[in-house]
Amino acid sequence: MRTISGKSFKVAVIFLIAATFLFSVKSSAQWGGTKTTLNPNKVFYPSYGVMERSRPSFPDVSGYKVMLCDFHTHTIFSDGLVWPDIRVSEAWSEGLDAISITDHIEYRPFKKYTNNDHNTSYDIAKVTADKVGLILVKGSEITRTQRTMGHFNALFLNDSNPLDVKDPKEALRTAKAQGAYIIWNHPGWAVDSTFIRDFQREVIKEGLIDAIEVFNNTEFYPVSMRWAIEKNLAMIAASDAHGSIEKGRLAELGIMRPLTIVLAKERTLEGLKEGLKSGRTLACFHNIIAAKRELAIEFVNSNLHLKRLGANGSNTDYILDNKCDIPFHIKIGRQEIFVPKSSSVRFSAPSNSSDLKFTFMNIFVNENELLAHDLQIF
Ligand code: ZN
Repeated sequence: MRTISGKSFKVAVIFLIAATFLFSVKSSAQWGGTKTTLNPNKVFYPSYGVMERSRPSFPDVSGYKVMLCDFHTHTIFSDGLVWPDIRVSEAWSEGLDAISITDHIEYRPFKKYTNNDHNTSYDIAKVTADKVGLILVKGSEITRTQRTMGHFNALFLNDSNPLDVKDPKEALRTAKAQGAYIIWNHPGWAVDSTFIRDFQREVIKEGLIDAIEVFNNTEFYPVSMRWAIEKNLAMIAASDAHGSIEKGRLAELGIMRPLTIVLAKERTLEGLKEGLKSGRTLACFHNIIAAKRELAIEFVNSNLHLKRLGANGSNTDYILDNKCDIPFHIKIGRQEIFVPKSSSVRFSAPSNSSDLKFTFMNIFVNENELLAHDLQIF
């Protein structure tokens, strides 16, 4: 019987240790994960997406905090396809400040799998929202025939269940009695032409409506900007998400979901409510902003800084700094410049022009009207 000598044994042990080390390095590199010390047959990978938050950057606008909000989303507690927690995770990952889950009161195709309480989606999401510090606004969508009455989101509710009544005006009045902020949703959705119907005229006249969606999902309703101005309603952009939030081409292009920018005194639920009730909103989607003129001017003045660099022959050189994470497309005299988000652009303009005339090609201040506003030169 052959035995291993002491020297051979040591060589064999060293070889085994080296082989184990090399194999572990190779397998980690090959699979890109980390082997657990507890279970050698398990490999861990880093997690992506829901655990990661990227916060778009915005300086304060005229002393107000910029809050990024989506006040129109759905879950399986109406006709959405996601569990309430997912709405919170998505919004937190995208860097939003606040969302509302606005499940339909009247349309709940999955009711036999859920329950009869209209507060449930909020109650579930609130636990997660509190954990991660996302502001969750309690809301519901009052839903009637689109061609005759339409859909309305009631925000800042105490209890959604009393809204479950037959008469739509009564539902709106009940919400208002709870101190709700009410938005007329997607006025141009699923209709051939967009106009104000009797029911809408009556509830606006009664003072039940505070705001109107100008962007919903992928739709833009320019005429609703005019109505917002004429009827003193705030402008809203919302995803109306039913499935998960788009993570494909739009995300690659750096385009976020439709967002309402609220200018708030403080980044809290109360600050948000005050900002909305005071009408300080800008609607934003596809890098297009829709807002009332005064707010649009305050927004560009706070985000853009124009500096004269000096004369260059018959021209003058300037540098334009964009301090926020929305790009600007600007026509200056006869030239057009694109200022990417959080970037600076240099340009020249004839020195003999007494002032620089700016038109913001991606900012609407009324139906078919772009913002014309000359920036101060420093
Ligand atoms: Zn909806």
